Amino acid sequence: MIRIEKSERLKRLPPYLFVEIDKAKSRARDEGRPIIDLGVGDPDIPTPNFIIDALNKAVRDPATHRYALDQGLPEFRTACAKWFKRRFNVDLKVENEIHPLIGSKEGIVHMPLAFVNPGDIVIVPDPCYPPYKSGTIFAGGEILLMPLVESHNFLPDLKSINHHLLHKVKMLYINYPNNPTGASCEKKFFKDIVDFAIKHNIIICHDAAYSEIAFDGFKPPSIFEVEGAKDVAIEFHSLSKTFNMSGWRIGFVCGNHELIEGLAKVKSNIDSGVFSAIQKAGIAALDNYDRHIKSVTKVYEERRDILVDGLNSLGWNVKKPKATFYVWAKVPPRYTSATFAKALLDKADIVATPGNGFGVHGEGCIRMALTVDKRRIKEALDRIKNRLG
Ligand SMILES: *Cc1c(COP(=O)(O)O)cnc(C)c1O
Repeated sequence: MIRIEKSERLKRLPPYLFVEIDKAKSRARDEGRPIIDLGVGDPDIPTPNFIIDALNKAVRDPATHRYALDQGLPEFRTACAKWFKRRFNVDLKVENEIHPLIGSKEGIVHMPLAFVNPGDIVIVPDPCYPPYKSGTIFAGGEILLMPLVESHNFLPDLKSINHHLLHKVKMLYINYPNNPTGASCEKKFFKDIVDFAIKHNIIICHDAAYSEIAFDGFKPPSIFEVEGAKDVAIEFHSLSKTFNMSGWRIGFVCGNHELIEGLAKVKSNIDSGVFSAIQKAGIAALDNYDRHIKSVTKVYEERRDILVDGLNSLGWNVKKPKATFYVWAKVPPRYTSATFAKALLDKADIVATPGNGFGVHGEGCIRMALTVDKRRIKEALDRIKNRLG
């Protein structure tokens, strides 16, 4: 036997706070209880047939069977650029301002390896999607939390960031529309953060995974709609939520070419690109975005209305998110995030994600994902009403 010891970087990862709820959930499943799972941020609707057909065709072409080029198929990057122009009216250079990713999470986590040295600070919103923190830790960076609070519309207060530390800050992550809070931002916020980043020489990584999951006619902006953004920023896009393709693993990063070049260099030493047949399916997805997207947002919008109106009729005070498929709600006064998540599961067989799992500033809240059908959302509301009082 050898003595097996985990690396310091693994030991530095934040504690995984969903352990308890995961265990309780599988116990409940084993007992055959009728669980309604509002916990997972993963689309429940299948990938559209036209995308599956494109994969089917592509996979029969032996040209797709070999290693993909690091930079991906030029046709995939062209499809990304065309979609970006149509959607945001932003021009991206196909040669060096777009790079395919094996899902955007992959690029998000690898990015600090290209630019962050041990001791450098990375500013991370809190609560947040956990990979911003793990990516920073893997690169040996130090995390500086930027609280997202309701009184500030879940936008960071840039003025409250400790000025004495700014010279050590190398990079920051932002994410709008936001997971887990469901908050959105306007172009004005992007302008402020780009100005801030230019002034303090900080790289911006914007995670735009939910840019297309938006309601009531709202079209979330890209950071590149703001002048100067390409000097300091890259933006991560994902096909997972937009096209119900989370299992396929495809997304792309775009923006500043030096930043992309650094990330691409890390990746070329780790992976060998996205399966070309999946890139071809991705082209079909992006090319048909306009006729596809309404059916997706309509489903989540209807579920959102049912859940939020239902909770509010029970005396909750929840705002309708303008984007994302998450409802972020305060837990009732006598509970913490964890005790409320436990009560929901024990008494009502409902899984929801305790907000503190996304960071200390998520304490007191719970995240419910709109990734179950409306019949089950109504059932969940009935159970909350009848069993939680
Ligand atoms: C789902 C999600 C992603 C990315 O997903 P991929 O499948 O890796 O593209 C990125 N950021 C946030 C905030 C998410 O919720």
